[in-house]
Amino acid sequence: PFEFQGKHVTVAGLGVSGVPAAKVLHGLGARVTVVNDGDDARAREQAAELEALGVTVRLGDGATLPEGTELIVTAPGWKPDKPLFTAADAAGVPVWGDVELAWRLRRPGAADWLAVTGTNGKTTTVRMLASILGAAGLRTAAVGNIGVSLLDAVLGEEEYDVLAVELSSYQLHWAPSLRAHSAAVLNLAPDHLDWHGSMEAYARDKGRVYEGNRVACVYNADATDKPSTEDLVREADVEEGCRAVGFTLGTPGPSQLGVVEGILVDRAFVENRQKNAQELAEVSDVDPPAPHNIANALAAAALARAYGVPASAVRDGLRDFTPDAHRIAHVADVDGVAYIDDSKATNTHAAQASLAAYESVVWIAGGLAKGATFDELVTGAAKRLRGAVLIGRDRALIREALARHAPEVPVVDLDRTDTGAMLEAVQEAQRLARPGDTVLLAPACASMDMFTNYNKRGDAFAQAVRELGA
Ligand code: ADP
Repeated sequence: PFEFQGKHVTVAGLGVSGVPAAKVLHGLGARVTVVNDGDDARAREQAAELEALGVTVRLGDGATLPEGTELIVTAPGWKPDKPLFTAADAAGVPVWGDVELAWRLRRPGAADWLAVTGTNGKTTTVRMLASILGAAGLRTAAVGNIGVSLLDAVLGEEEYDVLAVELSSYQLHWAPSLRAHSAAVLNLAPDHLDWHGSMEAYARDKGRVYEGNRVACVYNADATDKPSTEDLVREADVEEGCRAVGFTLGTPGPSQLGVVEGILVDRAFVENRQKNAQELAEVSDVDPPAPHNIANALAAAALARAYGVPASAVRDGLRDFTPDAHRIAHVADVDGVAYIDDSKATNTHAAQASLAAYESVVWIAGGLAKGATFDELVTGAAKRLRGAVLIGRDRALIREALARHAPEVPVVDLDRTDTGAMLEAVQEAQRLARPGDTVLLAPACASMDMFTNYNKRGDAFAQAVRELGA
């Protein structure tokens, strides 16, 4: 185990991961300095709280490596090319992310980790997985973005048999020694490329989740992207006997889970040797039963089965599961038009999945594009679009893609980035919609140009829809 007593540890970044990390490290006897780029009211408040404990905090200077640093624990979002890390590299100082810290602090004999990453569907899949594990009577939690924080899961009072852990590509980048029991990469589409630098670097970071897996590396057998998640499995260094297990929306091959006549079936982990497939659940047990979500359910089932969970628990766990807010949530029907909030569709791949679930759509989109292009999305969705309403900073990119590939689709370009723009966007969408259509908020962009986060964006949409109905 790593000895923290008396070590000079620099925590990079306050905020949701930095403050708890600083407290834990301080509690372990480390001499903690927190460095933070920002110097706003919130940062000062957090700094005061930490300073009262005896932690040193440097606000407004996240670039300089504090003298004597022996280890950096960074917030996952900090870009690898920051001067702080260049300096650390030159000085031979290791850098850990929040996941690496939690992994190193596990108690002996602690819970196994079943890990999930991918461009889209992580939170949903992890929650489905926790529901399935719970239905099998295991002590478990969904850990990550939603639910319990990693540090709490590892250090808290509560004891677990197995954890369902959501990991982002950033977190994986900074987690060199993580070794999951089994892991799934759901899909790989361009996202956060401005952070990772290239698609190859992004895929490489995602693929880290397979390193050292003991039982199963779960991959998406339907993916056509290159590199595929199966390529990443092939490149990973795993424990002997660890298997590659695919999931597919079609008929499964021998080491796969898939769908046969509306039934989710498992051909990878079959208990009864007389049979070559195990029925798990019905497609209608999955909520919502949209194709991308059935894929999530299959991935969750594959990880649970790798852990030895019986088929009946997969079915019960999927039936118990209810989707989270802002993920294809039905807000209301107004004058025969359905209003759907998929504010969580923060990239083009997610928006593509939700646009594909409806026949005739008025699409509300726009925000921060994060380096994405929209040609493929717009080409694929063109014939389903009744119209489009664009908001947010990078909306011109979507407008231009629509002009190139769907010139007949009416577009309303709202030249606004204030919060109130959502009401106008919904009113414009109502004008474009015909009875039977769906008005879909699936922005394909991040929300931070207009809102604090995607939750606030979805709430603003729902509020605007209520005002239409009123
Ligand atoms: P994440 O945690 O990876 O962001 P979520 O489960 O919160 O994923 O889902 C985010 C959004 O991605 C959903 O609102 C939906 O639009 C889309 N989505 C979910 N699952 C998939 C999938 N398997 N493939 C493509 N898009 C998906």
